[in-house]
Amino acid sequence: QTIGENFDATVAAHPDREALVVRSQGVRMTYRALAAAVDDFAAGLLALGLEPGDRIGIWSPNKAEWIVTMYAAAKAGLILVNINPAYRTSELDYALNLVGCRALVTATDFKTSDYVGMINALAPELAASQPGELRAARLPDLRHVIQIDDSPAPGCHAFADIARAGTNTTRARLAEIGARLQFDDPVNIQFTSGTTGSPKGATLTHHNVLNNGYFVGEAIGMTAADRLCIPVPMYHCFGMTMSALACTSHGATMVFPGDGFDPLAVLQTVSEERCTALYGVPTMFIAELDHPDFASFDLTSLRTGIMAGSPCPIEVMRRVVDRMHMPEVTIAYGMTETSPVSFQSATDDPLERRVSTVGRIHPHTEVKIVDTDGRIVPRGTPGELCTRGYSVMRGYWGDPERTAQVLDGARWMHTGDMAVIDDEGYCNIVGRIKDMVIRGGENVYPREIEEFLYRHPKITDVQVFGVPDRKYGEEIAAWVKLRPGETMTEDELRAFCQGQIAHYKVPRYVRFVDEFPMTITGKMQKYLMREQMAAALG
Ligand code: ATP
Ligand code: MG
Repeated sequence: QTIGENFDATVAAHPDREALVVRSQGVRMTYRALAAAVDDFAAGLLALGLEPGDRIGIWSPNKAEWIVTMYAAAKAGLILVNINPAYRTSELDYALNLVGCRALVTATDFKTSDYVGMINALAPELAASQPGELRAARLPDLRHVIQIDDSPAPGCHAFADIARAGTNTTRARLAEIGARLQFDDPVNIQFTSGTTGSPKGATLTHHNVLNNGYFVGEAIGMTAADRLCIPVPMYHCFGMTMSALACTSHGATMVFPGDGFDPLAVLQTVSEERCTALYGVPTMFIAELDHPDFASFDLTSLRTGIMAGSPCPIEVMRRVVDRMHMPEVTIAYGMTETSPVSFQSATDDPLERRVSTVGRIHPHTEVKIVDTDGRIVPRGTPGELCTRGYSVMRGYWGDPERTAQVLDGARWMHTGDMAVIDDEGYCNIVGRIKDMVIRGGENVYPREIEEFLYRHPKITDVQVFGVPDRKYGEEIAAWVKLRPGETMTEDELRAFCQGQIAHYKVPRYVRFVDEFPMTITGKMQKYLMREQMAAALG
């Protein structure tokens, strides 16, 4: 099946069920209404002269138009390019040019981006061109800028106008394209988070992402009765695949609290919309649990959800299960390159398992753990996690070299993560190979130290990483965020570690911080912490 075929089947099965709620826009749409909006926009895109295989970028926070664009592009045979709303002009140019986008859908009212900068920089070219005839030196492939705004800038199209631009001819063409599309045609280019460096564009097919979304939904027992609260960004696979495609392939309802992440909006949305499931990265759940008004919200409609993207501290998981009423919350592990999910806990796995592992391998996916020579290690031994199966990307767009670094001839995806699999198949992610600290010949996994430090009642978040050291090669550094109103000294922290963890794991350098450098998805960018600490230490 293609995404369009799957979507149409759900529309036929549940026409009157709510498909989409976007609280910040006051939008509520049934599947029937969403399908009509999707087909209108798809026919409009074809009327612009876009051809199957053309890339269309979307650079917007979570909005109804994001969802409409996503399904419309899939139906029109276009390749959707998800662009991080936090990108500034130069990053946007990089992404658009890397994959040669012909069209860009963008919002004009989002806070984090450099939208105005981009439009200003293009202004002379836009002003000198008719809509659709943009020729900008900086963006040689781009022809159309479609704004989610009723009064677009000169030279740009209004989203609503494109939705009205379809003709009988383009509608017929849409049907024809739908009939010809193959399940293994590329449908999407997703950029990795950029946690370890510059983001890479993974080329994914209908088969890759549609199936993964479906299986993610299966793993949390999703049905058409579910209402999923989605605070994660759509541009990321956690949003597009694990949220949107999971919902539409099961006929469930997508509920968006707002444009960006706001813990209060999430709590309000869950209680007012009676959501049954909630997603987030651990930092989002922490912010929700720590919100001063947390206790005043009724979250009893919740049943399940997914926590993913980075390691989840055990304490946080316990609070999510008990205080947020999510007995069936699951942990998922994945990466953009594998559509994304390859491991997920089951809703009925014992809590101990769910807090200590990322569950077992997803259906139709193979896994192996290898040592540095590529040999399979015995069960219980850490090594590099490799996965293979339907969900593995085609490759990085236009980058055979970086593709060859992670995908071998037998199509094994080398994840760059260290993992251990136990006798029952449960997987524990030990950390990124790049983040592992080698101190005086000892391999130190920052995660282990972080788990230990989380137990300190004054600490709300902590990140451990290695910094270069003349004597030991690397030394352990910790950035610590304290609970509001608390204070602590470095010595106090080290005293807490004394006798509890091995001496070489005790952080040598400690910095108390209010914030960590992180990606918009809430992932900690340790490479930036490492750079800052190394610079400070000289
Ligand atoms: P980049 O590849 O650009 O450096 P990234 O790897 O963070 O960024 P993503 O594809 O968004 O980009 O994230 C995948 C990575 O996230 C995995 O390789 C893994 O390191 C981490 N990860 C995902 N889920 C989990 C989890 N449940 N537990 C621990 N780590 C996780
Ligand atoms: Mg990665």
